[in-house]
Amino acid sequence: MSHRYVLVGGGMAADAAAKAIRAADPQGAVTLVTAEPDAPYRRPHLSKALWSGGAEAKAFLGTAGHGVEVMTGRAVTGIDTRAHRVTLEDGQALEYDQLLIAAGARARRLPGLPEEGPVVAYRSFADYRLARSRAGEGRRTLVVGGGFVGAELAAGLAAAGTAVHMAFPETGLGAGRFPAGLAEALTERYRARGVDVQGPIPGDTVFVRAARGEFDCVLAAYHDQGLIPVKLLAFGSAVNVTLGLPIVRTSVDHGTAFDIAGQGKADAGSMIEAVRLAARLARGDSE
Ligand SMILES: Cc1cc2nc3c(=O)[nH]c(=O)nc-3n(C[C@H](O)[C@H](O)[C@H](O)COP(=O)(O)OP(=O)(O)OC[C@H]3O[C@@H](n4cnc5c(N)ncnc54)[C@H](O)[C@@H]3O)c2cc1C
Repeated sequence: MSHRYVLVGGGMAADAAAKAIRAADPQGAVTLVTAEPDAPYRRPHLSKALWSGGAEAKAFLGTAGHGVEVMTGRAVTGIDTRAHRVTLEDGQALEYDQLLIAAGARARRLPGLPEEGPVVAYRSFADYRLARSRAGEGRRTLVVGGGFVGAELAAGLAAAGTAVHMAFPETGLGAGRFPAGLAEALTERYRARGVDVQGPIPGDTVFVRAARGEFDCVLAAYHDQGLIPVKLLAFGSAVNVTLGLPIVRTSVDHGTAFDIAGQGKADAGSMIEAVRLAARLARGDSE
């Protein structure tokens, strides 16, 4: 009897499994369903080969050529394990004898940012196309994250003529992962290629430079150090916002003012700004 195999996911794991199933069961009906608009491809090419002259076609894994039905742009939204059936977001149902879930990972997004850009949470071929269309001479890109993928992308973008800035909390590229000397040499190499990597900058001077407009953004590694200049410059109107949560969270930039509670003399400025910012973030307005 011929088996029906359904694979959820269009990454390299699903591709390898589909090919292995096909080899083990030449008669089986193998269907791969992926939410991405593209058929399976080599994801590592997105930060390497494609930025160094590699042809886009070479990134693809040729899954369909192995007798696999590839359904692109179709997210699986439901699985009924008793009925052996998966449901796609458009309502279509697929019956299976064997189901494999290889749904992989998603890139982290900072909350409140509009889906359509200019921020790209880099992970897919579609993200590559978008980033590539914005790369080149006269363009500026900030790469957030100094891990392997961030460093590779910065190199690729710089090679394409883009002015690249990098922001990450470590003291240099590869710091904490490589020996100090190697991390320093790597960071210097990037700087020599025009990638603007800065830091760490001493706390006693960085905020003066920031106030003069020298940086687009300052990441303060220590909460209290960062608060000193914020309170000095904008006490009562600055807002405390937490990034990285699945919800919007803002609060005032000061404490509870317990000593003046109930006296009608507390300044509500920061509270009002916090509510305004929360409303803007909830609307997806990050400006
Ligand atoms: C830019 C970049 C460079 C990398 N470079 C390297 C490297 O050099 N070396 C290395 O070892 N690793 C590298 N990695 C990591 C490596 O690519 C991943 O570990 C690998 O792709 C994981 O494969 P996967 O198939 O398990 O999952 P993924 O590649 O995450 O694929 C999951 C797939 O499932 C789909 N999916 C998810 N949910 C659903 C659903 N409900 N319905 C349908 N489809 C769904 C997704 O759309 C996606 O197509 C890199 C990653 C990136 C982003």
